[in-house]
Amino acid sequence: MSFINLADQFGRGREKECREWIGQNDNMANSLATRFTRGDQFETLLGEEFTDQCRDKLKVIVKDNVSKERKLKAYMNAVKSLKDNYSPPTSQQENDGDGDDIKPQVEEEDFQQKLEENYSKELEKIENNSIMVTQEQRYLKLLEKLGENDDQDDELVVVNPASSDNINRIKCHLTLAVMEDPVRSRTCKHSFSKAAIVHHLRVSKICPVAGCINRNMRTSELEDDPDTAILVRRYKKREELQKKNKAQSALDMDDDDDE
Ligand SMILES: [Zn+2]
Repeated sequence: MSFINLADQFGRGREKECREWIGQNDNMANSLATRFTRGDQFETLLGEEFTDQCRDKLKVIVKDNVSKERKLKAYMNAVKSLKDNYSPPTSQQENDGDGDDIKPQVEEEDFQQKLEENYSKELEKIENNSIMVTQEQRYLKLLEKLGENDDQDDELVVVNPASSDNINRIKCHLTLAVMEDPVRSRTCKHSFSKAAIVHHLRVSKICPVAGCINRNMRTSELEDDPDTAILVRRYKKREELQKKNKAQSALDMDDDDDE
């Protein structure tokens, strides 16, 4: 979708209208979802293939809603930051009623360009700080309605996939890769890939984490580390979803990119 389209769609005080539209789409998708719940009588009646297609369409709608909402937010942020600094030469749109034109005036073309630049920046900021669309609450809610949330438990929790914190927490100090079979020391609570730490303890008793005071580590003090195991599982699942998602959204939204 081009920026101009977005401006038409979101601009001129239509934020409320847009939000209502997004909300209505959401409600519609959700109420339809209950009709296409997996294992429901409709599935038996209409066939799995058809209901699968319907479910997929509903997912596209809700994913699209999430991305529209992010774009709307970016647009409103961009407008706001421009409003604070400039006022457009055509002053017929004084929605906020601040009236006075003491701000520097810019030509309409420049204004448009500045707005567009700001919008790109804001959108990037929002996307960078957002969780994956498929982890958004409203998407999960839809999955629940569709009866597809079976393995939702801890896999799809709200975690920022870009956060390096998470990656570092699941990286093994010895292998420097994502932990396999994580175990932790009961003494110092440091975790490692099981094979790697067992191998390490054959040659040294010093905890491999720099600065750790545990200098007498034994194999017997190692225990399974389910917390890290969950993080690893989530991480892998996210990677998988991200890949799937990328392929999917390339299909879904071929005209929805500014690139
Ligand atoms: Zn340690």
